[in-house]
Amino acid sequence: MPAPVCRFCSTPLHQTFVDLGVTPLCESYVSAERYNDPEPFYPLRAYVCDACFLVQIEVLVPPDEIFTEYAYFSSYADTWVQHAKDYAAMAVARFGLDGGSFVVEVGSNDGYLLQHFVAKGIPVLGIDPAANIAAAARKRNVPTLVKFFGRATARTVVQEERAADLIVGNNVLAQAPDLHDFIGGLKALLKPGGVATFEFPHLLRLMEENQFDTVYHEHFSYFSLMTATRIFARHGLRCFDVDELPTHGGSLRVYLCHDNDVAQPTGAAVAALLRCEQAAGLDRLESYATFAERVKETKRSVLDFLIDAKRRGKTVVGYGAPGKGTTLLNYCGVRTDFIDYTVDRNPYKQGKFLPGIRIPICHPRRIAETKPDYLFVLPWNFKDEIIAQMRGIRDWGGRFVIPIPSVQVIP
Ligand SMILES: [Zn+2]
Repeated sequence: MPAPVCRFCSTPLHQTFVDLGVTPLCESYVSAERYNDPEPFYPLRAYVCDACFLVQIEVLVPPDEIFTEYAYFSSYADTWVQHAKDYAAMAVARFGLDGGSFVVEVGSNDGYLLQHFVAKGIPVLGIDPAANIAAAARKRNVPTLVKFFGRATARTVVQEERAADLIVGNNVLAQAPDLHDFIGGLKALLKPGGVATFEFPHLLRLMEENQFDTVYHEHFSYFSLMTATRIFARHGLRCFDVDELPTHGGSLRVYLCHDNDVAQPTGAAVAALLRCEQAAGLDRLESYATFAERVKETKRSVLDFLIDAKRRGKTVVGYGAPGKGTTLLNYCGVRTDFIDYTVDRNPYKQGKFLPGIRIPICHPRRIAETKPDYLFVLPWNFKDEIIAQMRGIRDWGGRFVIPIPSVQVIP
């Protein structure tokens, strides 16, 4: 087997960051009709490049198999909807956007974010390869182009519409199989004097908080600020500011401009965060080498908890059906022998089964009907919201289990 090469610097990849075995596509929920059909499984191994430290997985699944009918509708998470609203208010004020501006979102999903610009009378365009969620966006009056983003799509938008004053991309950078084409496209689409903001989970948080279940086939790259700024710089984009956000377990929002834009001097936050990453050792290969052992220990502790609970005759059910839950439960080998079912508010997922381990996904009302002893929270990044929503389980003595960073039982 030839070694894969780094998608940024083309160095052969030898250093494993974490190996999660052979797993199915974590967003490809299994319908009842297809329950007896086989599923494709692919090796899920993340590498770290020993030249540029970009953490990445090989693209083994063609992206059009993953993203053209996507089950993640952003609008089903309340916290995320509020986050989008706050972002729109900030961006309009900070960058002076008005009815003459043009805002483009790459990976615009169901229009959860652009709808807030539409409400302020600002022209927008969403770009997303999934036709099913683009249809939902159009119902929110968010015009959406069903395409993968790259240089060719950027040129089409500039020719048929115009260059963008603001480009937004949230949790989409990781999903670009060809980083150079994607970021080259941003450079081409951004108007002189324009700004792009990108949010992505921060690799530093992933490592410090053991968020290995966010590694999945649909996420090709995992960025530190150090690697991200280098990749943007290669394409003539400068990171002039950065925010640390609590979303998705700890994300960065980077602010980008053309590298010669004197109107946007680079703020102190950028250098400060780069120093913080350096202090954490993100520029040294040995810092990455210890991660895999922590992941194995988490598997042992999840299984310890579940085995003990079942031996005591307790019932355990899941909450949520996020991609990270599929990664976690497949890696740990947890099926209905431990977790009877899970629930999700997204009707698209209800009645289906988690990929691989085939745990059924039910309507949330099932929890009140069956009164389980433990609620195993799979989208731990929304744990505060979920604990508040589901506090009723305490009426029958139910407890919450949060698996990441390490198993924690909350009464
Ligand atoms: Zn590299």
